[in-house]
Amino acid sequence: MSLPTVAIVGKPNVGKSTIFNRIAGERISIVEDTPGVTRDRIYSHGEWLGHEFSMIDTGGIEIGDQPFVKQITAQAEIAIDEADVIIFMVNGKEGITNADDNIARILYRTNKPIVLAVNKVDNFESRANIYDFYSLGFGDPYPISGAHGLGLGDLLDEVIKNFDEKTEEENDDNIKFSLIGRPNVGKSSLVNAILGEDRVIVSNVAGTTRDAINTEFEQDGQEFTMVDTAGLRKRGKVYENTERYSVMRAMKAIDNSDVALIVLNAEEGIREQDKRIAGYAHEGGKGVIIIVNKWDTLKKTSKTQQEFEAGIRSQFQYLSYAPILFVSAKTKQRLSQIPDLIKRVYDNHAKRISSSMLNDVLMDAIAMTPTPSINGRKLRIYYATQVTSEPPTIVIFVNDEELMHFSYRRYIENQIREHFDFSGTPIKIISRKRK
Ligand code: GDP
Ligand code: GDP
Repeated sequence: MSLPTVAIVGKPNVGKSTIFNRIAGERISIVEDTPGVTRDRIYSHGEWLGHEFSMIDTGGIEIGDQPFVKQITAQAEIAIDEADVIIFMVNGKEGITNADDNIARILYRTNKPIVLAVNKVDNFESRANIYDFYSLGFGDPYPISGAHGLGLGDLLDEVIKNFDEKTEEENDDNIKFSLIGRPNVGKSSLVNAILGEDRVIVSNVAGTTRDAINTEFEQDGQEFTMVDTAGLRKRGKVYENTERYSVMRAMKAIDNSDVALIVLNAEEGIREQDKRIAGYAHEGGKGVIIIVNKWDTLKKTSKTQQEFEAGIRSQFQYLSYAPILFVSAKTKQRLSQIPDLIKRVYDNHAKRISSSMLNDVLMDAIAMTPTPSINGRKLRIYYATQVTSEPPTIVIFVNDEELMHFSYRRYIENQIREHFDFSGTPIKIISRKRK
C-alpha cells in the first residue's frame, strides 16, 4: 500500500512542528530500548477517520547555510515534489507577510491540492482576521490553534477529502521492497544490476510526480516492485544532498515496502545514518535484509566476512534476525540471490504458525528453562497464539504480565526462531494476563 503524503509548508515560527506533533500524536513513539535510534520529527504517520497518511514537516529540512529565501523556496519545492496534499500554514496573529507571498508564488506552480491553515487563532475574536487570507488565492482558510488543538478536525477533513483513492489501494500479489542507504553506497548500481537484461520489466508505474516512482519486474512468476527508484536518481536539486531529506525519503520508501534492503558500503563500514534508517525499518515491523555492497573492494582473508558480520551484529543488535548478504554491484557477485532472499523474507513476514505447533515449542521451551520468579511470585505461561502477521505477532497468556521479563521473552523468541524460519522478520511478542 502506498500511503498518501501530506507536507506542511510555511515560514518559520508559524507553528508547523506544533501541528505536526499534534497530528502525529502518540505515533512518534520510538521503542525506548532500540539502541542507535534517535527521534526524527520531520517525518511521521498520521491518521484521521480511518485514513492513514505519512506527514512531512518541511520546516525541519534545513539546507546548509543557504539564505532565508532559498530555504523556504527549497522547502516549498520539497512539498510540491513529495506530497499528495499540501498544508500551507500562515500565522493568523500576524497577517500576510512577504515570506508568505514568496511561498504562495511557488505553490501556484503546482496543481496539487493545497489547504490553507491559519494557525494561532486561539480564540473566537481572532477568527475575524482570517478573511484577509482569502487574498492568497487558495480558497477557504482553515483557522486552527496548535496551542489549544482547535480546528484540526475541520482541517484534516479537508485534507483527506483530497486523497486519491488509488494511492490508498492495495495490491497484495506484489512484493514491495526498497533499497535504503546513504549516498554512494551503490543503490543505483544495484538497481541497474538487479534490473539487468535477464529480468522482464513489467511496467513503470507513473507516480504522482513526473518521475516513475516504482519499478516492477518479474522473476520466476513472482512480481516484485522496487519502491522509489526515482529517489535513487540524482536530479541535482539543492535539498537532495541534505541528510534530513535523504533520511525522510528513506523512511517514506520503507513505509511503502514489505521488505527493506539496508545497503551498507563495505569500504566505509557502518555510520550513524545507517543505524537510524535501519532502526526505522525495524520499528515499522518490516522485513529487513542487510546488503553489504562493494565487497570487491576489500582485500579478504578467510576471516574478513566473519569479522564484518560480527561488526554488523554488534552495531545492529535489534536486527539480529536480518540476513546479511555480501555482494558487489560491480562484479555482480551474489546479486542473483537477492530476489530469492527477498521472497523468503516476505514469506516469513507473512507467515502464520498454528497454535498447536506454537504451543508445542513453547511448552518444550518452558520445560528446558523454567519460568523465572520475582519476589517469590512465579511467572506462569498458559497458552500462546499468533494473532496476526506482517509482522508475526504472538500473544502469550500469563498469570501476570509484570513477571514476563525482557530476557525470558527473548529466550522464548529465540526458541520460536529455532523451530520456524522467521529470518528477516521481527516477531512481536505480547504478554497478556489471562482473565
Ligand atoms: P515552526 O517553526 O513553524 O515549526 O513553528 P513551531 O511549531 O516551532 O512554533 C513556533 C512558536 O509558535 C512556538 O513558540 C509555539 O509554541 C507557538 N505556537 C504554535 N502554535 C500556536 C498557536 O496555535 N497559538 C499560539 N499562540 N502560539 C503557537
Ligand atoms: P548510490 O548513491 O547509493 O545510488 O550509489 P551509486 O550506485 O551511484 O554508486 C556510487 C559509486 O560507487 C559509483 O561510482 C559506483 O560505480 C560505485 N559502486 C557501486 N557499487 C559498487 C561495487 O560493488 N563495487 C565498486 N568497486 N564500486 C561500486
